[in-house]
Amino acid sequence: MESANTQSSLSGAAPARRRLLVTGAGRGIGAAVAVMAAERGWDVALNYARDTAAAERTAARVRQAGGRALLLPADVADDTAVVAMFASLDQAWGGLDGLVNNAGVVDMAQRVDEYSAARVQRMFAINVFGSFSCAREAVRRMSTRHGGTGGAIVNIGSVASKLGSAGQYVDYAAAKGAIDVFTIGLSRELATEGVRVNCVRPGITDTEIHASGGQPERARQLAPMIPMQRPGTADEIAEAVLWLLSDAAAYTTGALLDVTGGR
Ligand code: NAP
Repeated sequence: MESANTQSSLSGAAPARRRLLVTGAGRGIGAAVAVMAAERGWDVALNYARDTAAAERTAARVRQAGGRALLLPADVADDTAVVAMFASLDQAWGGLDGLVNNAGVVDMAQRVDEYSAARVQRMFAINVFGSFSCAREAVRRMSTRHGGTGGAIVNIGSVASKLGSAGQYVDYAAAKGAIDVFTIGLSRELATEGVRVNCVRPGITDTEIHASGGQPERARQLAPMIPMQRPGTADEIAEAVLWLLSDAAAYTTGALLDVTGGR
């Protein structure tokens, strides 16, 4: 894809911008990835679930950074909605060159012996099945096996997959463990088809996700447990994602990259 850009530069035309879909791009890490991607030459399709105002603010920042922005509301846990979302993307931009599977949720701190079945099903539906659905649709468009020209997928996992999150959300940690294995398996399926698949595993990052789990101060409260003694920022996570999406990571696939302040 770099060479295509170079060719169009030589012919005098503006270099083509690559097209990225970021799920859960309204706020937090997804919003940081979207804006940073726009700054680095991507057009960005922004998926989100409910908060249209937040997604519109992120879209405005993407446009300010020079990228095209496309709002694609859809619940990633709803496979039919994901299929429709990719059809909208096809119609607007004719496909995509990158996917960041970022949409994710936590739940209230509970022990496993307190969980309802509905809680665990929701956790896996959004954090795991949603990533499978989005990756399937992206692969059908990007893989050379399907006539595509290649691309990159970055899954957002969590260091929770190593730590287990006992007494907080073991269901979340287990879902992120599935994302680790999904990354490794999918990367090997696609290794000769022009699509790299990697995972960024953030540690505690200062976003609104902690408030949604009933602990708005969690990122700052847990700082003493982090070797660097502070939570990460969404931009610090986005830097790793953007590297994995870029041609600078051309030989990196199946990697699980921890961005955790040493945790
Ligand atoms: P956040 O601030 O809570 O933002 C979550 C985003 O995901 C929002 O834009 C939300 O959309 C969207 N979303 C939620 N459910 C969705 C669904 N079913 N379909 C589509 N979009 C949905 O979260 P964050 O902290 O940035 O987390 C982003 C990712 O990083 C997650 O996968 C999370 O597990 C992972 N992570 C975070 C941390 C951390 O400490 N923050 C650490 C490790 C890993 P609406 O606003 O419209 O609801």
